[in-house]
Amino acid sequence: MSPPAVLISEVGPRDGLQSVPRTMPTAHKLAWIDALHAAGLREIEVGSFVPAKLLPQMADVAEVVAHAARLPGLTVMALVPNRRGAEAALTAGAHKLTIPVSASEAHSLANVRKTREQMVGEVRDIVAAVRATAPAVKVECGVSTAFGCTIQGAVPEADVVGLAVELAEAGVDEVGLSDTTGMANPAQVRRLFRAVRAEIGERTGAAHLHNTRGLGLANSLAAWEEGVRTFDASQGGLGGCPYAPGASGNVVTEDLVFMFEAMGIATGVDLDRLIAARTHLQAGLPGEPLYGMTPEAGVPRGFVPATRVVDGARP
Ligand code: ZN
Repeated sequence: MSPPAVLISEVGPRDGLQSVPRTMPTAHKLAWIDALHAAGLREIEVGSFVPAKLLPQMADVAEVVAHAARLPGLTVMALVPNRRGAEAALTAGAHKLTIPVSASEAHSLANVRKTREQMVGEVRDIVAAVRATAPAVKVECGVSTAFGCTIQGAVPEADVVGLAVELAEAGVDEVGLSDTTGMANPAQVRRLFRAVRAEIGERTGAAHLHNTRGLGLANSLAAWEEGVRTFDASQGGLGGCPYAPGASGNVVTEDLVFMFEAMGIATGVDLDRLIAARTHLQAGLPGEPLYGMTPEAGVPRGFVPATRVVDGARP
């Protein structure tokens, strides 16, 4: 059995749940996260540490982190927008923090009321706090609106690469690129990941791609071909862009796992168990539309995944 060749980072409990108007009850969240872990996912972004009055869907995040941290082998990730959030995440026991920093100045001001420079300063403070109090905890930055912005339109590629370099210099472990608004195309994904890797090398982090215009898998493959090995994805395609109603949001985990497994690239995830985990999502958010071509069509007959599960054990 070969170890997983890619890391699928499930972001549904954060990116997905924060985008739907209703709040999933805590017990359903925990059961869903358990099922995702049982399917073989080994990194899950379980929530975000933002004030509950801004995002009531995340009011139970500390409890969710504490629960997830007891699942064996799981890296529990949490989004933190600032130092106060980071401190709360560390107290709750998160293993990895992710900080979104907009490449678009307009998006940054609208979203966090801070300029990009102010956000880089915030990141520096967070890194210092983490290194001083919880040295085992990893810090990741996701450059949001890296491929385009619904407010300002095009985002200059030099701005994205420059910001990635500043964030790496601020001391974070990884810098990923996020297609927050679902505007990326494969040629652009290639170009930007290549340019970022040329500057920051091994610190190049996850591809966070959305499927708003149907290019999520094509963009993921382009990122893979540029050497990206961590992919954010969301079960049922939950999440995404409020400006594109009716469109699916994040890349669908089930479809992404199917693509890689069919290509012989092991994800460590059992596709049948992953699809079965949708029942928890449906139970916790009744009536919420779920996306995904593979769950609709089914796993093809005779499908041989790259990840082999023997007697319930996996690599
Ligand atoms: Zn997203």
